[in-house]
Amino acid sequence: MSGFQVAFAFEVNGEAIDPTKIKDAKIAKQLDAIVESVVDKVGDLRCPEHSEAPKFICSGPSFDDLNLEVQGCCDKLVDIVKAVL
Ligand SMILES: [Zn+2]
Repeated sequence: MSGFQVAFAFEVNGEAIDPTKIKDAKIAKQLDAIVESVVDKVGDLRCPEHSEAPKFICSGPSFDDLNLEVQGCCDKLVDIVKAVL
């Protein structure tokens, strides 16, 4: 799990999580799968207007209950990303 091409943040139960520091292999794998599926679909997608890359925030009350949220420079980028995911 190294070198994300896509900006990703994890927040569980209100706490920022560094996925590279997770000791539990099962959870690490789970997060890896989320990142991979997003990177797979979004790749190096950029905003057509601002050339900005989208950001992803994965948050929830527990590792089993995470919600993926997309952030971008504008609604247009967010819409594009949501359409691909
Ligand atoms: Zn934009």
